[in-house]
Amino acid sequence: MKLDFSDTALAFQHASPADIRRARLLFGVLASPALVSTGKTLSLWALKWRLPVKGLIRATVFRQFCGGETVAESRPAIQRLWSGGVGSILDYSVEGQTTDAAFDQTVEVALQTLALAATEPGLSLGVFKMTGIAPHDLLEHMTLGAELTAAESHQLEKVRARVRRMAQFAAKSGRTLMIDAEETWIQGAIDQLAREAMQEFNRDRLVIMTTIQCYRVGRQAQLRADLDHASAHGYFYGVKLVRGAYMEKERERAATLGYPSPIQPDKAGTDTEYDACGRMMLEALGRPDSPGRVGMVFGTHNEDSNRLGAELLTSQGWNPQDAPIWFAQLYGMSDFISFVMAHHGFRVAKYLPFGPIVNVMPYLLRRAEENTSVAGQTGRELLMLRKEAARRKQVS
Ligand SMILES: Cc1cc2nc3c(=O)[nH]c(=O)nc-3n(C[C@H](O)[C@H](O)[C@H](O)COP(=O)(O)OP(=O)(O)OC[C@H]3O[C@@H](n4cnc5c(N)ncnc54)[C@H](O)[C@@H]3O)c2cc1C
Repeated sequence: MKLDFSDTALAFQHASPADIRRARLLFGVLASPALVSTGKTLSLWALKWRLPVKGLIRATVFRQFCGGETVAESRPAIQRLWSGGVGSILDYSVEGQTTDAAFDQTVEVALQTLALAATEPGLSLGVFKMTGIAPHDLLEHMTLGAELTAAESHQLEKVRARVRRMAQFAAKSGRTLMIDAEETWIQGAIDQLAREAMQEFNRDRLVIMTTIQCYRVGRQAQLRADLDHASAHGYFYGVKLVRGAYMEKERERAATLGYPSPIQPDKAGTDTEYDACGRMMLEALGRPDSPGRVGMVFGTHNEDSNRLGAELLTSQGWNPQDAPIWFAQLYGMSDFISFVMAHHGFRVAKYLPFGPIVNVMPYLLRRAEENTSVAGQTGRELLMLRKEAARRKQVS
């Protein structure tokens, strides 16, 4: 099967002329590092001093990359995506919380998103971040292998109870819950908690999925060890494969503290690791007549990686709708991949972030920074948007 990611009529089937104009303008601004840097400083400063900039943020980056401030506000976006066969992964993108009340609130909101699947189609996957339900210091101490104090052990039990509550709900409601990956200095703890949850809840099917960041060195070995552990202990193994979102921060910290960078030396190294991990997972899945007890999400905007996943899946004899393999992108980006793959019968879903504007700012700033390169994602988005605008002009 040949996937044509340049079919912009399909990709932008739901976009109004105003949507196309707004997205072109926004990605045009994002292409300029100077504008993004100034915008970042100004918006953080203005929000801090409670200046009235929320309206501007809402009409621009927030509207492009988020579903709304609440689950209810996100419903139109969910329905619009689903009308093109694309599911949603509601992502409560509030980060950096520190209190038990805030952690419990994250769990409550996650349960609300899981419950929404009863009335809205296309919501088979859910997601949460460990830093949304656990103190950062605790995760860091666990990752260091430090002995926990009595108070920390108590906190850890509370974190485990939060994970269990969400996993039990997902198990009961027939959904699969992914755990995002974060910075390496807390990731050891996240991996440990994710493994415990998979071992407890994935006895009969995939309830919990972990995440592997392929920009880290040694991820093929990690994946092999994970697969071996799951098969030795008799549980389903699920993983979302991503390249990784914290590259600059990781490199800077390694340089400052004087340890070797955990990141691949170059982009080609990350790409090789990503595709090798994807192949390993599809090999573990095998053919539909005797499938392995695994599932995965290709979490990527990379056309070649999406293509590779699609080709491996179909060449192994799978009807893509029956396979426990999803292809996921972020809302507001790469519609030319999402809608084209969904049209060809693949299981596709978009992360749909939501939350109060002030609290989703770290997420929005990461998207802005990630898109600040004409050579990368922004260039592709602009190219597709221009192509679609030209096509519409021609047919009108
Ligand atoms: C559905 C979904 C879920 C995600 N969940 C997570 C998550 O849980 N945790 C997380 O960290 N990220 C997550 N991400 C973000 C992801 O890790 C990437 O930052 C983003 O998707 C860009 O990578 P790409 O494969 O889409 O595209 P590409 O454009 O092919 O790759 C860009 C990525 O390659 C890597 N890279 C770029 N330059 C270099 C270099 N010089 N050396 C080494 N590596 C380099 C970086 O990781 C960069 O982000 C998620 C993304 C998606 C789509």
